[in-house]
Amino acid sequence: MAGTNLKCRECATTYELEPRYVCEQCFGPLEVAYDHSRFVDDVGALRRRIQGGPQNIWRYGDFLPLDGPPGPALRSASRVGLPAGCTPLLRADRLAERVGLGEVWVKNDAHNPTHSFKDRVVAVASQRARELGFDTLACASTGNLANAVAAQAAALGLPSYVFIPSDLEEQKILATGVYGTNLVKVRGNYDDVNRLCTELSGEREGWAFVNVNMRPYYAEGSKTLSYEIAEQLGWATPDRVVAPIASGSLFTKIAKGFEEWLELGLIEGSVPTMNGAQAVGCSPVAQAFDAGADVCRPVKPDTIAKSLAIGNPADGPYALELARRTGGAIDAVDDDEIRAGIRLLAETTGIFTETAGGVTTATLAKLAARGDIGADEKVVIVITGDGLKTLDAVRDTFESYEIEPRLEAFEAAVEQGVHV
Ligand SMILES: [Zn+2]
Repeated sequence: MAGTNLKCRECATTYELEPRYVCEQCFGPLEVAYDHSRFVDDVGALRRRIQGGPQNIWRYGDFLPLDGPPGPALRSASRVGLPAGCTPLLRADRLAERVGLGEVWVKNDAHNPTHSFKDRVVAVASQRARELGFDTLACASTGNLANAVAAQAAALGLPSYVFIPSDLEEQKILATGVYGTNLVKVRGNYDDVNRLCTELSGEREGWAFVNVNMRPYYAEGSKTLSYEIAEQLGWATPDRVVAPIASGSLFTKIAKGFEEWLELGLIEGSVPTMNGAQAVGCSPVAQAFDAGADVCRPVKPDTIAKSLAIGNPADGPYALELARRTGGAIDAVDDDEIRAGIRLLAETTGIFTETAGGVTTATLAKLAARGDIGADEKVVIVITGDGLKTLDAVRDTFESYEIEPRLEAFEAAVEQGVHV
């Protein structure tokens, strides 16, 4: 086991690596703690060990809370599940030029089995769930997690229950139900769904709610994003990361991944400046950042960025602390800016992202316009999901020609600029 125990983030009380997520002493959230001291003496060997690992997140098994990550020898889908990770990191010069920056990279996590970064966290949580003897996977989801849990359960041959707000995008509902999960639409927003699942997790023995009772293990999966970025940049950190904030878990774990590897001397550089991105219609963390507050006041979400629509973000205080500590910020962009962000990324990189990626790209543009980013900075934006999941967001953002099937019709239309 790479982890040593669970540790309270508030009072540092430790617990065994069991299905537990809240501190009994102070109700603070629990996080996995590690002892990496055995690696300190030979960083070169550790790099080679990682490079020799499988082309997915299990290459980082030494940094994940599992008794035994499924190795490359275990090919059966029912053993390894869906292999997440090892997604492309692309240098985006045309995007950089459009927003007036020097060096921008896009970490495209839409290249996961169900087209979002959630495959990483679900892979880790579901492997740990099996180690702990659970026989059913479940989750409270804003959409992407629903896709990932339903697909992972199908691959592993486990039953699953997926709870979603009933007003979710149709694409995300269809791309969940297809895997044969028990799909439960809850009349309420994500925070209502989450409350119900928290209650249920105490009632249903044998159910691993990946983001409730398995949350400490689940959250660790996000670190693999920063491990990959560092490895892809030649064992070095970028200067700045722009990432979306929903619960704040992804945002803070990206930094944790860099911090762990910097501490070991495995990578060069320092902890990047961390910029968080939210939608104006659900921006409790950005509002707290602006107000200089340490905690977030819950909001009722109203935004097209449904995958970020968490009104009461569990890791909000930690996201605030991280942004301030690293000299970053947390910004919010409105729905029109989100649509423009989707188009900007698509037109300059060929990457079609969902609304959350529009939030992130629009925030990059905003930071650049504000002069927050230095000309010589290496910036990575984290694109967390695929545009095919939120097609309605780009409806009516472009025009097309409709013509009779004749040469003159085409020429006339193009000359006269007749769009429909
Ligand atoms: Zn505690």
